[in-house]
Amino acid sequence: SCVIEVKNLSYAYPDGHQALHDVSFRISHGEKVALIGPNGAGKSTLILHLNGILPVQQGEIFVGDLAVVPKNFSRVRALVGLVFQTPDDQLFSPTVFDDVAFGPIYQGLSPAQVQERVDYALSMVHMREYAPRVSHHLSVGEKKRIAIATVLSMNPIALVLDEPTAGLDPRARRSLIELLRQLPQSMLVATHDLPMVRELFPRTIVMDQGRIVADGSTDVLLHDE
Ligand code: ADP
Ligand code: ADP
Repeated sequence: SCVIEVKNLSYAYPDGHQALHDVSFRISHGEKVALIGPNGAGKSTLILHLNGILPVQQGEIFVGDLAVVPKNFSRVRALVGLVFQTPDDQLFSPTVFDDVAFGPIYQGLSPAQVQERVDYALSMVHMREYAPRVSHHLSVGEKKRIAIATVLSMNPIALVLDEPTAGLDPRARRSLIELLRQLPQSMLVATHDLPMVRELFPRTIVMDQGRIVADGSTDVLLHDE
């Protein structure tokens, strides 16, 4: 079944710059897809549409069977966990626990359910013992994993990550890749890290100048790069 469907999406920024042209693709249940392309290709613009941060101007987006339209935004945001490139954009509470609990508290869950979701999310990123730590003081690699936990605690069906390995040292990068491998959710991951794409993503979407210029098997698309 289809988890994310983007149909004929076009988008122009307020200054008139056309950042997306007729973008269409579908991501199935459990599928992990890489999104590559040069700077300015439109990857971030596309990603920001998937949970309603940028409004759909032309075309349609569905998450599960929900249309991504304003009246569904709060449900869509729980279903699609968006992880920004800079974890500091996502971590703003005094402790790791509070950051990871923020989504489930906002969803109106009971304290016991919130605790359960936080335990689950921190276990998934191998950071359970970090709950009482100050998010702000962690290393970049640790912050990235906590940022992922802040969306896992919402019980999403899909994860959308912007440049998850950018700025990580080799050990933190390796730990992030192993984490992405273990997560069961469908994924769309914008990245310039082609070795990671080859290792982890069977399918790659290539964007250039706001359009999808290729979508298919990573082995075929990246065979000689
Ligand atoms: P990528 O993530 O692939 O680097 P972006 O989605 O950030 O690409 O950008 C796509 C295009 O939209 C680029 O040409 C960029 O300059 C332009 N763009 C991005 N943000 C804005 C904005 N706020 N206003 C106008 N143009 C923008
Ligand atoms: P950084 O290098 O940015 O400090 P890392 O991602 O390398 O961050 O790891 C941060 C901490 O989390 C380290 O103490 C490491 O031992 C621990 N850690 C990393 N990956 C795992 C894992 N898969 N399981 C358990 N602990 C881990």
